[in-house]
Amino acid sequence: MRTVHLRVEGHHLLDAGAPFTAKGARAARPRYWLGAGGAGRGKCSCGQLSEVLDGPDQRREWHRTHKADVTGQTTVPHEQGTS
Ligand SMILES: [Zn+2]
Repeated sequence: MRTVHLRVEGHHLLDAGAPFTAKGARAARPRYWLGAGGAGRGKCSCGQLSEVLDGPDQRREWHRTHKADVTGQTTVPHEQGTS
């Protein structure tokens, strides 16, 4: 799967896409053996929570969209300083 990592200051996905509750806490009884797996909300370091998603892949995808939203970008930005 091709994944583009867009680094945005102040916005990073907490705990590698681990599930959080609606209150923004790590989901109760974290299943360490599943890593960041399990259903729950993704959480950005800015405090933004996603909808309840099935797993970390979906939460990473949500966060990618979130970063695009906060930067106003709908596509991968071009390298700066070329024009
Ligand atoms: Zn954010």
